[in-house]
Amino acid sequence: MQTNNRFTLSFEVFPPKRDGNIEHLYAAIRDLKVFRPHFISVTYGAGGTTRDKTVEIAATIKNDLEIEALAHLTCVQSTRREIAEVLGRLREHNIENVLALRGDPPQDEQEFVQPEGGFGYASELVELIAAEADLSIGVAGYPEKHPEAISMEADLANLKRKVTAGADFIITQICFDNDMILRYRERVMAQGVTVPIKIGIFPIFNYKQIQKMASLCGATIPSALHEKLYRVSEKDEEVEKYGIEYAIGQSEKLLTDEIEGLHFYSMNRSTHVKEVVSTLSLPKHSD
Ligand code: FAD
Repeated sequence: MQTNNRFTLSFEVFPPKRDGNIEHLYAAIRDLKVFRPHFISVTYGAGGTTRDKTVEIAATIKNDLEIEALAHLTCVQSTRREIAEVLGRLREHNIENVLALRGDPPQDEQEFVQPEGGFGYASELVELIAAEADLSIGVAGYPEKHPEAISMEADLANLKRKVTAGADFIITQICFDNDMILRYRERVMAQGVTVPIKIGIFPIFNYKQIQKMASLCGATIPSALHEKLYRVSEKDEEVEKYGIEYAIGQSEKLLTDEIEGLHFYSMNRSTHVKEVVSTLSLPKHSD
């Protein structure tokens, strides 16, 4: 995947917990293919089965659905050797892009624990991938700071470390405040980081779910947005309608600020994301 000097449109999906839902996922991806996304990314869970599914789904996206795939990969509960094995499987399936993450702890654990024989930080994973695999490497960026970072300065220094270690692009965490996103971009660039920053957009469709997601990833829901959502919180259709409107407004404004990519957290649903993307005037697609 060429990630430099051009705008990219992308979507994120996750491996469904139940096998029955895999066809729904592929149907959603086929639906989103009309927008000719530059890539679709597949998350990597803490448990073993979801991990196998990440490679399997990314391979189907790449080889059967013929869309560029970006496989997420984390350091959680993995040794260097296990990570090298996953990289080997990605190569076997012609997957050329990986999002290198430290990862969140499994559900039953409070905090991330560095596995024996494994890595403590994403920057170490980036170093390994850059040394051992010919892959385009993405990393995570946090406009509101990573929740565990002692300061924004420390978190920005970490981002720089990941880029110096070999990252080719950055995808940002959910953030509903464009001013924060743009200030973050300025601060990242002020450190001499020049790789593209793809902005993560989460079209809201359920009140309880967004409360949970926001608290998990440390995203603030601006008070005006929260008030509107709260007023219609019992009516999913209204929440989704407002979520679509908000995501359109947020994306349109960012496009005027010449961002280098929009990455939609689809939550494996296509209808609401389609409504957002079909409304936007996106930069011309250059293959
Ligand atoms: P790191 O960059 O390693 O940072 C983790 C923390 O350590 C930060 O606070 C950082 O400031 C600090 N730090 C880093 N290096 C040092 C150092 N040398 N000394 C001291 N402190 C340091 N999680 C999943 O489990 N699976 C996924 O598929 C997934 N996909 C994601 C996709 C995107 C676009 C984003 C933004 C996040 C995703 N996450 C995923 C969540 C991510 O794994 C968590 O946010 C995790 O807690 C941190 O991962 P990281 O790669 O940013 O870690």
